[in-house]
Amino acid sequence: MEPENLKPIFYWSGIIIYLVLELRYSYRTSSVSKIKRWLSNLPLSIVNGIAYHFIFQGSITALLLFTKEKQIGLLQHFDLPDWLKISIGILILDFTIYIWHLLNHEVPLFWRFHRVHHSDMNMDVSTANRFHFGELFFSGFIRLAIVYTFGIPILSYILFEILVNLTTQFHHSSIKISSIFEKFWIVLLVPPSMHRIHHSVKIKERNSNYGVVLSIWDRFLGTLAGNIDQEKIIMGIGSHRNFNKLEFWYLLKMPFTKKTL
Ligand SMILES: [Zn+2]
Repeated sequence: MEPENLKPIFYWSGIIIYLVLELRYSYRTSSVSKIKRWLSNLPLSIVNGIAYHFIFQGSITALLLFTKEKQIGLLQHFDLPDWLKISIGILILDFTIYIWHLLNHEVPLFWRFHRVHHSDMNMDVSTANRFHFGELFFSGFIRLAIVYTFGIPILSYILFEILVNLTTQFHHSSIKISSIFEKFWIVLLVPPSMHRIHHSVKIKERNSNYGVVLSIWDRFLGTLAGNIDQEKIIMGIGSHRNFNKLEFWYLLKMPFTKKTL
């Protein structure tokens, strides 16, 4: 099976499982209509999934095979056991996604696209794939560059795809989770409370907690924010508070509307 084909399988399984859990063990009552939000978020992720599949699937798979066969990339030059190479490959991919996420907040051009994700006024499993294709388009090229530069092992890439899907859907989900579980989880990974702060309408809170799979990058690089009253977090972005306007077609053109913080 080609690595990129795993995406839809894990995506749809996650959507169904987390939706059931959100309805059964809801973290908080939605401030806006969940159905209307899903009618924006789901079509966006379907369009993205199809476009990404056709543009990047073949090239990423071909590059993974090519770098392995030709021994291209930094990791290929070290005589390490396979399990260590695979683990380092996963760490490199996760660190790259952390830096890329930070740049999406710091570089005005990238923020134009990334604000589509942050404009969601509630957060649940559907938010995990609410992205503008422009952002995914840039990130596809970054992935190709990272695979080529580091010679990422195929298994690292496949495992990382699975991890990203499971963890992003989990930390966006609106499931009531015990604080004890979150305290253990945050030692290495990103729990929903940590990512909820990142979705705060307050810019200082939003520009923190960039981690996707691992929480360690935020801790080591000083971007970790905690001790925020979770009940008081208002989600979304200050410049886009008109919920009725935030439908599918508007989200598609949002990056090309006026610049906002
Ligand atoms: Zn963000």
